[in-house]
Amino acid sequence: MTKTKLIGIVGSLVVAASALALPARAETEKLSVVATFSIIGDFAQIVGGDRIELRTLVGPNSDAHVYEPRPADAIALARADVVLVNGLLFEGFLQRLVEASGTSAAIATLTEGADIVHDPDGGHYHYVNGEAIFHAAPNDPHAWQSVSNAKIYVENIARTFCAADAEDCSTYEADAAAYLDELTALDVEIRQSMDAIPEERRVAVVAHNAFRYFERDYGITFLAPQGVSTESEASAADVASLIREIREKRAAAVFAENISDARLVEQIAWKPVSRSAARSTPTRFRRAADPRPLTST
Ligand SMILES: [Zn+2]
Ligand SMILES: [Zn+2]
Repeated sequence: MTKTKLIGIVGSLVVAASALALPARAETEKLSVVATFSIIGDFAQIVGGDRIELRTLVGPNSDAHVYEPRPADAIALARADVVLVNGLLFEGFLQRLVEASGTSAAIATLTEGADIVHDPDGGHYHYVNGEAIFHAAPNDPHAWQSVSNAKIYVENIARTFCAADAEDCSTYEADAAAYLDELTALDVEIRQSMDAIPEERRVAVVAHNAFRYFERDYGITFLAPQGVSTESEASAADVASLIREIREKRAAAVFAENISDARLVEQIAWKPVSRSAARSTPTRFRRAADPRPLTST
């Protein structure tokens, strides 16, 4: 994007936001909540129920990494009582949107207090329309892939709602507590599912390296195209080294995210590796019939 175009967008956000009169929240009104993306939005809805009015900026099946805020988003932020964000440089669009909106809402960073994974590569790659884009982030922002971290998000949401709406605090806390129990059960379920997979087969291929937390907590190795040195497509050498790794580690599954460009992993998974699999190993690659994503980012 050109700088001029960027300034133009920010300018229009400012105009859109400042054109509004901003009344204080009346006692009978719902708590106005903005969540930056759908997973946080889901948590917020569960904790807030019908006591909140929720707007999620980046909805399901969309990619927060390439999101361009709209003037309506600045208006939503300006009106919000509470803004829920992931942090750790996940929402690249956030700072300029917050500034443009002039919001005075409480901005809660939900990864605060979570057990964070340092990224030795200083970031990860996204493949958008066949292009590799480096997302620089010294700490891996995909922290919700750890269920114990997801619980921290939920606790932070409940605390934030209580601070903004003390009257309904006990309800927020009760709904959060019930959901925390569900997350505890989910954690147990995941561990049991993993136990059923032979240890040496706990290898999967993904399009974007967003699963370090899942890897850490549940002992699966995720292989993703990495180390891409060009601005454009994954280089032949990178693809070849990934294919070699997949063969050596005998990846058991390929997970094509609903929001990522799946062509690269499909190319890697279906062509060279399945040929080698047919020849020398019992490895078979499959796509989930229902590729329900673990992440939308
Ligand atoms: Zn990213
Ligand atoms: Zn990501």
